[in-house]
Amino acid sequence: MSRYWSTVVYDLDPYVPGEQPRDGAPIKLNTNENPYPPSPKAVAAIRAALEEDGARLARYPDPDGDRLKAAIARHYARHAITPRQVFVGNSSDEVLSVIFQALFRHEAPLLLPDITYGFYTVYCGLYGIAHAEIPLDATFAIRPEDYQGRPNGGIIFPNPNAPTGRALALADIERIARANPDSVVTVDEAYVDFGAETAIALTGSHPNLLVTQTFSKSRALAGLRVGFAVGHPDLIEGLERVKNCFNSYPLDHLAIIGASAAMDDTDWFERNRRAVMESRDSLADALIGLGFQVIPSKANFVFVHHPRRDAAKLARHLRDRGIIVRHFNRARINQHLRITIGTPGECAALVDALSHILTEKENRS
Ligand SMILES: *Cc1c(COP(=O)(O)O)cnc(C)c1O
Repeated sequence: MSRYWSTVVYDLDPYVPGEQPRDGAPIKLNTNENPYPPSPKAVAAIRAALEEDGARLARYPDPDGDRLKAAIARHYARHAITPRQVFVGNSSDEVLSVIFQALFRHEAPLLLPDITYGFYTVYCGLYGIAHAEIPLDATFAIRPEDYQGRPNGGIIFPNPNAPTGRALALADIERIARANPDSVVTVDEAYVDFGAETAIALTGSHPNLLVTQTFSKSRALAGLRVGFAVGHPDLIEGLERVKNCFNSYPLDHLAIIGASAAMDDTDWFERNRRAVMESRDSLADALIGLGFQVIPSKANFVFVHHPRRDAAKLARHLRDRGIIVRHFNRARINQHLRITIGTPGECAALVDALSHILTEKENRS
């Protein structure tokens, strides 16, 4: 608290990321990072850039990140995406922040699910955007009809949703985009590569549809901070205008090079996401075997509930055994845990720890 703060700072409710322990090496299943190292080609490209022309760092990077936009357009060539339909930024959180400023500041409220990614309402607070939370149904699914016939200044939801892991079908996303021709519908596809379908295919026919993705999950580059949006060139131009009023160089030289190489490494990408999806499906089976209810997930995490055990206590017991999972102390989901898919070894350690915890009499609650 300080009298030097501007008035808006007093009322901010900042996002609290999952713990990043500095010491020891607990099993980290709490922030949905990829359990594997990134594409060796991405690492090699960054190393080569430094070795061959380290002096390049004396210069500003390409303000437009054209090399990365071209790599993203190549990756989505099957949907006829051109670089003019791509916006890049220093993480998808930053890209989302630009979207909130550029496209969501309108008279009517922004619509979003009641259970969803926590950053959206943080940005509403920061930018003074009114919002209305639309409850998920009893199975934690988004009901597309709830986003029709409701005046709004924009719509945002992740697909698959976080922290539930549930995915919407493309036909449902198309219905939402079509029912709201006067506002921008943003689909946050942070986890789409783990089994859902990208709505990028629909951006060509729906000029109000914007899709965001990140390199933090399915590209295993959370430490590089790279995200992007794909949509109609007019939406992208709006984002570029805001970006150029805030930071002309959001992506550094090495991030542009590393992310471009990662985007081009299709073999690594396909192998990695298959491995994560296989681990997810066997972890879900093992957890069901332990008595958990597991929401069908299309993401690199599972959202689970044990009918006879307190979720916060389970998280504490796991912590004592060196395993960190995410518990949200929030209405509707305070009896759930969100568990990131680790390596097969990490998943086995989790299942082992849980089966011990569940059979220890003194832990019964
Ligand atoms: C992880 C995540 C992001 C943020 O990704 P970054 O690119 O690391 O900022 C955005 N949206 C959702 C739903 C996420 O889970």
